[in-house]
Amino acid sequence: MNKRSLILNLIAGLIILLLCGCADEQNPPTTTSPEKPVDTVLTKEEQDKLTPARVIELLKEGNLRFVSETMTSRDHSDQVRAAVKGQYPMAIVLSCVDSRVPVEDVFDKGIGDFFVARVAGNFVNTDILGSMEFACKVSGSKLIVVLGHEHCGAVKGAIDGVVLGNITPMLENIKPAVEYLAQYEGDKSSQNQEFVHMVAERNVRATIENIRKNSPILKEMEETGEIKIVGGMYDMDTGKVIFQEP
Ligand SMILES: [Zn+2]
Repeated sequence: MNKRSLILNLIAGLIILLLCGCADEQNPPTTTSPEKPVDTVLTKEEQDKLTPARVIELLKEGNLRFVSETMTSRDHSDQVRAAVKGQYPMAIVLSCVDSRVPVEDVFDKGIGDFFVARVAGNFVNTDILGSMEFACKVSGSKLIVVLGHEHCGAVKGAIDGVVLGNITPMLENIKPAVEYLAQYEGDKSSQNQEFVHMVAERNVRATIENIRKNSPILKEMEETGEIKIVGGMYDMDTGKVIFQEP
């Protein structure tokens, strides 16, 4: 090969390399293949298209995948990098701190999908209401989920009137749910699983009532249909979330 041919070959190679580079930019890798882990995060356009009812459907579908062990494969490294540009989560979930309730997993969701607020006994105070207002009013989330669960230690502590440090005033937030069931005829102690379940369910409803009562912003957003506020109970035996009827 003479010198001129060598230079021509080099130029041709460079052109091919440049063309390949441009093609990749126009056709970024997608996640349509079921074998390929999800490596993207929610965009503003995708969030804008979601309705509160659709987000509930997505959560129910995700929980079914969690229960049936067909969870979505995710590339967290790529998702972390994609999420740097911004976040457009579909929902905020308020859960108990319980280590047995892995919130994102329970709904088969990943990075950028949810805001998550956690406090023992999943009640609201000013800070958590502010977080919810930030999620919905500022960041465009469409749904608030208050997620209670079976065998909740905080609920049991409120039922038994546990007295210990800062736990005592914290449990005061759950006490109204215990008092609501004052007429319950049966063993009103944490030994009674039925009673614990009833208090936990009532506590979720009380939290939703408190959201509407103490956040005019969220109440108005719910009334205009911009968001929905729903309650659910996580069943530890099956992994299933039972959404409460309004
Ligand atoms: Zn709990």
